[in-house]
Amino acid sequence: MPRWNNWSGRHVARPSDHVFIRSIDDAAGLVKQISSSGQTLRVAGAGHSHSPLVPTDGVIVDTSGLAGVISTDASSQRAWVWSGSRIFALGRPLHDQGLALFNQGDIDQQAIAGAISTGTHGTGHTLKNVSSAVTGLQLITADGTQVVCSDKTEPDLFQAARLSLGAVGLITQVQLQLRSAYKLKENGFERVFDDLTPDLETLCTNHRHFEFFWHPQNDIAVAKVIDETDEDPSYPLAQEGRRCGWNYEVLPNHRPHKHTEMEYSVPRANGPECLRDIRDLIRKRFPTMRWPVEYRTVAADDLMLSMASNRATVTISVHQGIDEPDEPYFRACEEVFKHHLGRPHWGKVNYLSGADFAALYPAWEQWWTLRDRVDPDGVFLNEWLRGIRPD
Ligand SMILES: Cc1cc2nc3c(=O)[nH]c(=O)nc-3n(C[C@H](O)[C@H](O)[C@H](O)COP(=O)(O)OP(=O)(O)OC[C@H]3O[C@@H](n4cnc5c(N)ncnc54)[C@H](O)[C@@H]3O)c2cc1C
Repeated sequence: MPRWNNWSGRHVARPSDHVFIRSIDDAAGLVKQISSSGQTLRVAGAGHSHSPLVPTDGVIVDTSGLAGVISTDASSQRAWVWSGSRIFALGRPLHDQGLALFNQGDIDQQAIAGAISTGTHGTGHTLKNVSSAVTGLQLITADGTQVVCSDKTEPDLFQAARLSLGAVGLITQVQLQLRSAYKLKENGFERVFDDLTPDLETLCTNHRHFEFFWHPQNDIAVAKVIDETDEDPSYPLAQEGRRCGWNYEVLPNHRPHKHTEMEYSVPRANGPECLRDIRDLIRKRFPTMRWPVEYRTVAADDLMLSMASNRATVTISVHQGIDEPDEPYFRACEEVFKHHLGRPHWGKVNYLSGADFAALYPAWEQWWTLRDRVDPDGVFLNEWLRGIRPD
């Protein structure tokens, strides 16, 4: 029986099959075959989610063969890309057409469809998550039909599929709204926690990107601001915190230390107090914690299941090494995040129930209704999603 595991190794699956696809016809034929034989499937991107979104005892579909830029349109600044394209592989070809993503996450290893399916985001108070840049999708629904959707064509399906948790269909192609290529300059600095926090709002507001990692063992916040620049790129690129280059060169980082992670999005106004509460919790109950706490901002959007849906957001992430127990720590942090009205990142650890999600997302039932319409038999569901599905 094949074996699949996520990036951290915390989630291991024994799917009935692990299938590699190379084309839309391949994808459509496979979905039809799986659904007509009463099996289920989950589509895998790069496997970087810390939540059990991909694991299944049904079929896992590997989309890494659906890769590359398909077409770009200079006037609308939009591009169609294959869904399995790793974000690192999109930067240069889009740049060669004078185009760029508005923002991206801390790393660029995710498949584009994986990133949009969980609301993956970077930092920046004016910048929305990656899913918000989606303007069109081509996907295969449970009966094997190929559908193209946008806010004009099949708009209901589009709303559900823009951030889909992999549960609406097999996405083959993604259309993205881009902008003109731009250069960025990073400025990293360190400050003792109490010296940084009075300036938090100003730092968040005055820069295109601002983020920091607070380190519990020395109480130091390792911060960076990133802004657009006219300066020439400087190669070889410097270390993180001192880079000057094009957007796709400066925004991603190297995160080699295997870990597991919980991240909650809280209303932006609650961010500073929530962070202080997490710091107090760590100091009182987890004083040996070695892993830092990350603080970022994300602009509000209108996606049904986005962690930033209809509210300006601060995201706070807590981490744990993969060889250390995470549950007591994460459960304690989760109580703090819940107190501050947090919504968990879809691709990271949480312990919420379907009722909890229904309380956090006004469109929860509506999203499931739209999803069930194109997949009434749950071909695209796994155990975890069935567990949070409304009755
Ligand atoms: C080191 C590290 C750093 C990270 N940094 C950030 C960060 O800065 N910001 C942030 O927001 N998140 C971050 N994450 C989380 C990560 O971005 C998300 O979990 C993202 O979904 C992972 O993308 P993936 O391609 O690995 O998708 P996977 O984890 O493989 O899948 C995620 C979801 O996408 C679905 N999916 C994938 N491809 C398709 C498809 N073609 N059709 C339909 N559904 C599909 C899957 O079924 C699943 O539901 C990080 C994770 C790690 C491990």
